[in-house]
Parts: sequence; structure tokens; C-alpha cells
Amino acid sequence: MIGSFLNVIIHRLPQISDIQYRLICAEYIENFFRFKKIKGSFNQKRKFQKIKTHFGVHHNDDAYSLSTPRSHCPNCLRTLSWTENIPIISFLILKGHCKTCKTPIGKTYPLVEFISAAGALYISTRLYVPVTENLDIHLLMKTAAFCIFFWICIALLIIDIRTQTLPDLLTLSLMWLGIVLSLTSTTGLALESAVLGAIFGYSSLWLIYKTYKFFTNKEGMGYGDFKLTAAICTWIGVESLAILLLIASLTGAFFGGALLITGKLKRDEAMPFGPFLILSGFILIHTNLSI
Ligand SMILES: [Zn+2]
Repeated sequence: MIGSFLNVIIHRLPQISDIQYRLICAEYIENFFRFKKIKGSFNQKRKFQKIKTHFGVHHNDDAYSLSTPRSHCPNCLRTLSWTENIPIISFLILKGHCKTCKTPIGKTYPLVEFISAAGALYISTRLYVPVTENLDIHLLMKTAAFCIFFWICIALLIIDIRTQTLPDLLTLSLMWLGIVLSLTSTTGLALESAVLGAIFGYSSLWLIYKTYKFFTNKEGMGYGDFKLTAAICTWIGVESLAILLLIASLTGAFFGGALLITGKLKRDEAMPFGPFLILSGFILIHTNLSI
């Protein structure tokens, strides 16, 4: 069920940001024309009122959120019944197609649902089950915390691959959660290490970005990557920052090289860095938990 909710986040969050961005631009343009006192005022909002995106929402749909409208087929826009909304099972019953318009349902939906469940199962068998048979609140909290970390990271990973953005809502939530959980000693990390992790995680990448831009006049990363590094470091500690960046850049370079050779990526095309930071974070958390 959490995987199902992650699917909603993965699908809607980038669109919500896009709509909000358009609305801000529209307001800016309208104010500009009003300021210039141009008659027959130019209403950008009204202009794209009629245009529907292929997700079935208007470009100025302020009401579009994580909860509204209800889950629907992105092609024929029919609202799904509860039987079509059961994680994994519905996908299998429907044989991967919409009941009415027969459009294939994206394979990411069941995949995210499966990975969310499998990850949570793995974390709890690793952390909770081998240690105690009785209810241990502290261990339970720790297990739940790392599950939440995993789930948010999965959503970020897919959003970054698809849209090359890392929504603030997810990166910043992950960062504050890491700091608060170190304060309550849930993650087993000292508060100092988490806070310094956030500070140095952000600033180190910012420094690399500025240096790279100064010499090449190109943008190698985005601000989302800085926030994501800060967020991951509140979970692994400032001590692991260097190794986090090392693993992420090595795997990134290796994977990017492989894509270049096979021709799947062009030389001047950008590749998201977030997935490598996340994978590197997973590896480090896994080794920390094993000790
Ligand atoms: Zn349909």
C-alpha cells in the first residue's frame, strides 16, 4: 500500500511543481501587463485554461494535488474502482492493461509496489527480527525509520531518472527527518554528526558545482543534488560524506561511460546524479547496519 502511495507521489509531484511554476509565471506576466497599463489585459491563466495535458489535468489546475482527483487511467481518464487499485494484484488481474481503453499500464507501478515491500521486509529481517522476539520500541522505531528512508529514496530515484529533478518536498523532508531522528537517537547517529553532515553535504557539492562552472561555464549538477547529499548525510553522518561521493561518482562515471559506448547517451546529454547518490547511500547504510 505504501508502494501504491509512492506511485502517486512519483507520478504527481513533478506535475504539481510544473503547474505551480506555470501559475507563478502567469501571475508575473499579468502583473507586468497591468503595470504597463496595456488595455484588454492579457490573461495567461485563461489562455491555457483550455489546454489539457496528457495526464488529463489543466495546465492551471490549482486543485491538482496528491489526493485529488482520485486515481484514474491517464489515457481515458476513467476513475478506477477499488478492485483496480489493489497493489500488484490488480496489475496481474488486469494483465497490465486498462479495462476500458486497453492502454498498457506502466510497469513501474507494480515494480515500485514490489520493491517497497521487498525493501521493508529486508530491513526488518535484518534489524528487528534477529535481535528480539519481544516488542522492543526503540528497535521498532529504528526499523520504521530506515524503511521510511528507503521509501522516500525510491520515489526520489525514479523521479530523478524521469524528470531530472529532485522535489524539495522529498529531499528536505528526508533531511529534517534525519536530524530529528538523530536527536532522539533513533538512527544511532550523534546529532552533531547529522547536522555537520547536512552542512558539509550541501556545501561540498555546491563548491564542486561553482568550481566546475567557473572553469567550464557548464552546469554539472543541480541544487537538488546538494539537498539530496545533505539529506543522505543526516542518516549516514558527516564521517561517511567522502566515501558517499566517491562511490556515487565512480558508479556514475562507470554507468555513464557504458551508456556512451553503447550509444544510449549522447556526449552533450545530461545524466541525473541523484540515483547514484541514493545507491551509494544504500550501500553505506547497509554496511553501517551490518556492523
Ligand atoms: Zn483507460
